[in-house]
Amino acid sequence: MKFISTRGGEFVESSAQAIVKGLADDGGLFVPESFPNLSADIQNMLELDYAGIATKVIGSYLEEYDKEELYNACKSAYSRFTDDNGATLVKLDDNSYVLELFHGPTLAFKDVALTLLPYLLRKGADITGMQEEILILVATSGDTGKAALEGFKDAKGIKICVFYPTGGVSDMQKRQMATQEGENVNVVSVKGNFDDCQTAVKTIFSDNSIKKILAEKGIVLSSANSINFGRLVPQISYYFSAYCDLVNAGQIKIGDKVDFCVPTGNFGNILAGYYAKKMGLPVGKLVCASNENNVLTEFFETGSYDANREFFKTTSPSMDILISSNLERLVFELSDRDANLTKTRMEQLKKQGTYSLSRTEQEKMLEEFSAGYCDEQDCEETILDVFDEYGYVSDTHTAVALNVAFGYSVLNNGFNRPMVVLSTASPYKFPQSVYKAITGKKITDAFTSAYKLNELTAEEIPEQILNLKDKALRFTKIVDKKDIFDSVKEFLSI
Ligand SMILES: *Cc1c(COP(=O)(O)O)cnc(C)c1O
Repeated sequence: MKFISTRGGEFVESSAQAIVKGLADDGGLFVPESFPNLSADIQNMLELDYAGIATKVIGSYLEEYDKEELYNACKSAYSRFTDDNGATLVKLDDNSYVLELFHGPTLAFKDVALTLLPYLLRKGADITGMQEEILILVATSGDTGKAALEGFKDAKGIKICVFYPTGGVSDMQKRQMATQEGENVNVVSVKGNFDDCQTAVKTIFSDNSIKKILAEKGIVLSSANSINFGRLVPQISYYFSAYCDLVNAGQIKIGDKVDFCVPTGNFGNILAGYYAKKMGLPVGKLVCASNENNVLTEFFETGSYDANREFFKTTSPSMDILISSNLERLVFELSDRDANLTKTRMEQLKKQGTYSLSRTEQEKMLEEFSAGYCDEQDCEETILDVFDEYGYVSDTHTAVALNVAFGYSVLNNGFNRPMVVLSTASPYKFPQSVYKAITGKKITDAFTSAYKLNELTAEEIPEQILNLKDKALRFTKIVDKKDIFDSVKEFLSI
């Protein structure tokens, strides 16, 4: 299958090339030339395990990858999750569900894609006959970094360098990254916020002189952020698996619609839901949930994107984003795949921090999406309410989505069909915030909070958290954003 750039200047002949390149040379994102339709396959998927469903979904785009090998890679990736399941559906109440995506190695939903991406990339390099060493650069608001490090550690022919905003991630997230093992990994803390990290990394990607320096050393760049199609495509699978779980549990019949509410930052997770719908999954509304950085809520309400606003540091740091990269893929579709228009808009965004949709595009968008946001106080109250009412412990990101989903229900006189809220992180990645929300008590130490939270909720502490306590900090470097490439050179010894 061909992949085209959202900015029109480029296409590649295969998914393997799109995955290896990560980002198109014209700065655009790769999208499939067309969407495969799997509606007739849902019946068969009911019998499959998670890896089987993933193979069907991913394989429908990645035509050059051998199906049996892909299935084995999925098996092996998802064997790192509890019960070999990338996505666990939990029922809260009539018509409301939580889809837990955090039972993987680093306790965040990023694992669903990043346990598989090393295979997709390695294989893609083989398929395209690439000889060079691959250097992966990652900008992270917390969870991608650790999941990518864990996924790529000691991968052959691949090096990975992660940048996170100093002070922009939780204690647990920082510890997870700073203690990372592996010979091919590097972690750097950058003065600034996530958007600074992301912009600095994107600048490296589009800087030809840097690419030339690397090429002379036999190195090519790739990305593990959700701008890479290889990151996005494994995320489509769990929309299908959740749907199958609902059918298998007798909650719906095939063809019935299901709504999803997604805690959103870079718009990768929810975009995967939109792609699932385009592939024939009966999805009703996709509800986009934001925290106080509610640039997306405003975009859905007004049709105008305006990144010129105050940046808030919240207790859901993985959603503290003002420039949602994957929105470009949605805007491209809304414009009926008008690449020139998309390019103009993205240039406007870069220069002025803003662009607008036409009235028709906005209406089209609102047929598929709804949006809302939740402030810090409501997030805390939601954690407490959901714990009191359902005995369910949610992390701060999930709580934002739960709050927005409940708000959506109120506006629509209840959930008229199943609402699945995507749960993106273990509460133990943010134990201070979750403990404070439930008890009103503030404890500064992350581990003490985790133990207390465990006493209070009887929710088991994952061993990945317990193991962190005694690990030595390996990466403590802090740099200015202008010095990011110097830190890459130092890491590569070039
Ligand atoms: C990354 C992340 C998000 C946001 O997902 P996007 O795909 O960037 O929209 C939400 N919650 C958690 C816990 C995350 O790690």
